[in-house]
Amino acid sequence: DTAMYRAKSNGKPYEVFDRQMHESVTALLRLETDLRKSLVEKDFFLCYQPIVDLKSFQITGMESLMRWHHQERGLVSPGEFIPLAERTKLIIDLGWWAIREACQQLAYFQKEFSRPDLSVSVNMSAKQFAIHDLARLIGDVLNNACIRPGNLKLEITETVLMENAKAMIKTLNDLKLMNIDLYIDDFGTGYSSLSYLHRFPISILKVDRSFIFEITKKENFEIVRTIITLAHNLDMKVVAEGIETSEQLKLLMQLGCDFGQGNLFSVPVRNHEIAKMLSKSHRWDFL
Ligand code: C2E
Ligand code: MG
Ligand code: MG
Ligand code: MG
Repeated sequence: DTAMYRAKSNGKPYEVFDRQMHESVTALLRLETDLRKSLVEKDFFLCYQPIVDLKSFQITGMESLMRWHHQERGLVSPGEFIPLAERTKLIIDLGWWAIREACQQLAYFQKEFSRPDLSVSVNMSAKQFAIHDLARLIGDVLNNACIRPGNLKLEITETVLMENAKAMIKTLNDLKLMNIDLYIDDFGTGYSSLSYLHRFPISILKVDRSFIFEITKKENFEIVRTIITLAHNLDMKVVAEGIETSEQLKLLMQLGCDFGQGNLFSVPVRNHEIAKMLSKSHRWDFL
């Protein structure tokens, strides 16, 4: 807006705007080239954020969140590089690496802390669901890592699910037959056809953090209540994302929310940090 305004006021309507566009497009292309050059094994790593049972306050699982360590720029957030990776199909390689890495890490934690029930959830892009034979290939990864299929959860956003519903239903059913659970990410922000929801083999709805952020407001409280009721009536469970305060936590517990995730418990951390939380002696200090 400002660029356009400035441009217009000096009588050359598009020049400044064009230059800024050009600069940002160049920066993006640059990042995309860097992304291609980055070596999956070397420049990427996973962080983990605990998912906590809101009745027992035990960690029942963890979400893996990808990080890119750019040689010059330092950490680049997934909000920035995932869309680029998706455009370039690099997301396929990165995606396989993340699933393998997360499963191996989970196998280690299950053994180290005698927690065979512990699960990991991995974010998935639309392109990954188009992989031929996805279910079988994931089965191979699970076998190699010695992880039971029930302990791997795949997260897919509501929007991706609804926009590719027809194409994905077979893959999703194949995954379900293998006992791999599906989580719907950022629920409430996309456009869900409620009549469709029950047709998918979904086990958990993750309520988007925008609702949790202002759950102290009556309207948001009611929306979250409605989502929880809907989920429970459809035999699904609910994870609240982005819990930052004990007040938010209290309201969610009041509503019977099953699981919680957010900075109140822990920000996403490296594997050795989450290991500390998995040890028996760990207590949440806000309780
Ligand atoms: P998401 O799957 O919805 O992940 C949750 C995001 O919320 C994470 O951001 C996490 O750091 C952030 N978060 C968690 N608790 C809190 C909180 O209490 N307050 C606030 N303000 N934020 C919180 P992150 O790590 O930057 O990831 C952003 C998105 O990037 C993810 O959203 C996911 O869509 C995507 N992503 C991350 N890793 C992967 C991956 O391995 N594959 C794919 N395809 N996408 C990924
Ligand atoms: Mg997620
Ligand atoms: Mg989410
Ligand atoms: Mg999100």
